[in-house]
Amino acid sequence: MADVDAARRELEEALGTTEVLSDPLALTLYARDAAMVEGGCALVAFPHTVEDVVACMQVAARHALPVVPRGSGTGLAGGATPIGDALVVVTSKMDRILEVRPEDRLAWVEPGVLNLDLANAVAPLGFTYAPDPSSQQTCSIGGNVNTNAGGPHCLAYGVTSSHVLAVDVVLPDGTVERFGSEAPEAPGYDLRGILIGSEGTLGIVVGACVRLTPEPPAVRTMLLDFSAVKDCAATVSSIIAGGVVPAAVEMMDHGIIVAAESFAHAGYPTDAAAVLLVEVDGLPEAVEAQSRAVENAARDHGVRTIRVAADDAERALLWKGRKSAFGAVAQIAPHYHLHDCVVPRSKLVDVLAGVYEIAGRHDIIVTNVFHAGDGNLHPLLSFDRRIPGTLERVLSASEQIVRLCVNNGGSLSGEHGIGLEKRDFMPLMFSEVDLGAQACVRAAFDPEGRMNPHKVLPAGARCGDFAMARGTDAAQAAQSIPEGSWI
Ligand SMILES: Cc1cc2nc3c(=O)[nH]c(=O)nc-3n(C[C@H](O)[C@H](O)[C@H](O)COP(=O)(O)OP(=O)(O)OC[C@H]3O[C@@H](n4cnc5c(N)ncnc54)[C@H](O)[C@@H]3O)c2cc1C
Repeated sequence: MADVDAARRELEEALGTTEVLSDPLALTLYARDAAMVEGGCALVAFPHTVEDVVACMQVAARHALPVVPRGSGTGLAGGATPIGDALVVVTSKMDRILEVRPEDRLAWVEPGVLNLDLANAVAPLGFTYAPDPSSQQTCSIGGNVNTNAGGPHCLAYGVTSSHVLAVDVVLPDGTVERFGSEAPEAPGYDLRGILIGSEGTLGIVVGACVRLTPEPPAVRTMLLDFSAVKDCAATVSSIIAGGVVPAAVEMMDHGIIVAAESFAHAGYPTDAAAVLLVEVDGLPEAVEAQSRAVENAARDHGVRTIRVAADDAERALLWKGRKSAFGAVAQIAPHYHLHDCVVPRSKLVDVLAGVYEIAGRHDIIVTNVFHAGDGNLHPLLSFDRRIPGTLERVLSASEQIVRLCVNNGGSLSGEHGIGLEKRDFMPLMFSEVDLGAQACVRAAFDPEGRMNPHKVLPAGARCGDFAMARGTDAAQAAQSIPEGSWI
């Protein structure tokens, strides 16, 4: 049994009393992220420096406390949801942009820097930070690195792993290591790559060297509206099969259009079955040619209208609706649950039809807003948890949707990660041997199994004697998400 009081005193000594919380309100606030599962923790710490993070890790090691790293807590898979006597280490006060080097097209940042703050800081220099999650106003670079976050513009520019050259990490024993380097493509095993998307299970990222991307000289944003979902979805693969990879291709169905419009007043066509928000960028001639190809593909599938943003203000408005869609669904019902499975683009029409059918059979409202160009679905199941039996129907529908995607050659997550919520689906994609190999990688970084236990790998995944969660007995570790953890 960990001596939490002693750990608290040692942390207060190292970080200062204001930077360590253990009152019931704080423990409740930090017991979950933006996903649907709730856990519990013993202590919450707010480091300001790398040395503070080292102190957190050393105290946790001395007292055998599990450690849960946390950025802004916007994760949608329960990755930052602590379980048991955990120490939650929140990096939001490590929020400095340390260095911007336009000549090398890179910047060094602390993990708590918000994604949009970084993009805004480099904009006057003619650059951007390309991965742009819809949560970019609030999510942190540390969280982005650890979930390998995507975003609308990752279709052409690539997800976070393509934009991070190096990471500085405090390992569970308190040592600080750099993985990767400012020079790309270092020889040897790609440990930087292993850290990216590791969901806080290998160490705490305390710094990142990110690539800066030049702003394109010309951009065109188009809203295409359709009277049938299947025509809208079919247009997506036609555009890309035709040789054009737009900067972004986002799809929203009727329910989302109505919800987003009443919030953003972007002029979305509320009678449409579905719309595509397409952005092309590059040299002006290329933008012209790509726009024509997009319009032709859309006409082949019976597009009703094509609206082209006339200026930056209209472009921003069209994006505002898309980026606020998750929040806007609160108008439909108080709770939502979503998966972010990826399917091959050519399967979008069939899989979307399957998603609506599953939701209908479970009597659950489903709306879809997603990175269509990547085949990265986000079916949002809206519901009211207070109505008895609803949560069970939501979880059953959600499992069937995940199976449908995987059976169509899909993947469990395109960007949100696995965390706690999707952990028990991992055997749908990976064999015992695969999972064992992943457990061995984890054990190499964290031999005591204290980093973000219970996350990503299911309880059965083992590497020799490495236990996924120190201090949990086999029976407890073998059970899936504990009863009562769903909000
Ligand atoms: C409205 C909304 C829209 C969203 N849109 C998108 C989208 O378009 N694309 C997308 O990819 N995601 C999206 N997300 C999900 C979420 O914003 C991303 O997963 C984001 O990367 C999480 O960042 P965070 O700072 O909130 O991390 P957290 O939620 O705090 O943590 C996420 C994971 O990273 C780990 N972690 C955090 N910081 C560190 C660190 N410094 N060191 C080690 N581990 C760490 C945590 O342990 C956890 O496993 C959306 C979420 C919401 C609520």
